[in-house]
Amino acid sequence: MSKLTYPDYSNICGWNAMLPPRAPRPAFDGDINVDFAVIGAGYTGLAVARRLRELRPDARIAVVEATTVGEGSSARNSGFTGTDVLPRNITVEMSEKARLQSKLFSEAFQWLTDIIRENNIQCDMQQVGAIRGAATERGEASVRSVLEVAKKLGVTHQELSRSDIAERIGTDYYRFGLYLSDTWLLQPAALIRGLADALPSDVELYENTPVERIQHQGDWILSTRSGQIRAKNIALANNGFIRRFGYLNTKMTTIYTYAAVTESVPEADRALLGQDQSWGLLPSHRLGTTLRRIGSDRLMVRSLYAHEKELTQTYVEAELRNRFERRWPGLRHVQFEYVWGGTTALTMNGAPWWGKLEDGLYASGGCNGSGIAKGTMLGRHLAELMCGFGDHSVLEQVMGQASFIAPEPFRSIGFRVISALESRKAGREI
Ligand SMILES: Cc1cc2nc3c(=O)[nH]c(=O)nc-3n(C[C@H](O)[C@H](O)[C@H](O)COP(=O)(O)OP(=O)(O)OC[C@H]3O[C@@H](n4cnc5c(N)ncnc54)[C@H](O)[C@@H]3O)c2cc1C
Repeated sequence: MSKLTYPDYSNICGWNAMLPPRAPRPAFDGDINVDFAVIGAGYTGLAVARRLRELRPDARIAVVEATTVGEGSSARNSGFTGTDVLPRNITVEMSEKARLQSKLFSEAFQWLTDIIRENNIQCDMQQVGAIRGAATERGEASVRSVLEVAKKLGVTHQELSRSDIAERIGTDYYRFGLYLSDTWLLQPAALIRGLADALPSDVELYENTPVERIQHQGDWILSTRSGQIRAKNIALANNGFIRRFGYLNTKMTTIYTYAAVTESVPEADRALLGQDQSWGLLPSHRLGTTLRRIGSDRLMVRSLYAHEKELTQTYVEAELRNRFERRWPGLRHVQFEYVWGGTTALTMNGAPWWGKLEDGLYASGGCNGSGIAKGTMLGRHLAELMCGFGDHSVLEQVMGQASFIAPEPFRSIGFRVISALESRKAGREI
């Protein structure tokens, strides 16, 4: 395992590269005292900082980001978001919990969309909905289980046959699908850049500033390459990398997952992208492949997982192409323009770790694969907890807390065994 306290990717983020260049905020240099320091400028960290400013207008707040905004995982994701009313593995017995969870998400999601609207953040956010696609019999059973909950909760939905899906997205790879309208698709790099730029001007943001160490000496001291930040309170919003400061090592692990975006599909082949101008497909198995049409002319494929360290670029590209070509054999001649990876934090039971670690030290991490809404929700609540404000009992009850995860070497062995077994189960969903 690398000793770095932050993710240092071997490739650039495709979503960021598709946008015009952005000048990052200056790196930190000097010594300062603040009331609140937030480590990480992803969805979680920016939500913490914004909410802290709302609650404590006079406090000095600094956000410290290891890389540049637009190159972290908050920009590297697939851009699916919403109120997460129907997670993949839901059953009818879990529908009351899902309803409560969705209420929590809705509040944060509304807050996020208000910020986007008020600050005119241009991130192509549209309520396009998403297809839960099943390529296998087992996958179909899983999607049908979600369908039952959708019916029970009165969520607007549509069942899709193989030919319905083919008509919409141009591939007959999937045997069954469930269209749910409660998903928004967006350009994640544009969103996270917009959220950073929309921070109140008196919230200090330092980019290209990895925090190398934190120590408790009365206040908390954050050591960076060019100086120290002395903070009364810290929020660790650096997801799987919280562990690199010596906390939550038995609660979460870092997972890499990968995405590719094609070059512009030639005009003559556009009919092969389906008749829907904008669409997204989520897999029925957790190791499955996510698909998205971007703009009128590109496709995105997200798949593959690695534990703790990056896979080689050659391997990633070959595997993603295999998934792409199996679905769209008629587009074999279309190249990938961008291929990249990103990290997320995995917990054993799927629950995040959220709360107070020590006096003045708080953390939120492990939001797994749906951090846009979940990170925003957890970050907002974390800021409230740090200010002694609000009631978080519903959050604690509904989200739960990350359970124990075995230390190394058992963790890596476990990951290898489980992913081999799950890959076999997933079959063509991958
Ligand atoms: C390929 C991919 C596809 C995904 N698809 C989706 C999707 O469609 N929808 C969705 O909601 N989620 C998706 N996710 C998950 C989502 O990106 C994460 O859940 C989300 O980024 C978590 O937000 P966060 O702010 O908690 O953490 P991060 O986004 O990881 O932000 C943490 C920040 O902390 C910084 N940092 C780390 N260590 C340090 C340090 N020592 N000092 C200073 N800064 C540090 C990092 O550089 C990073 O910018 C996907 C993830 C990947 C990788």
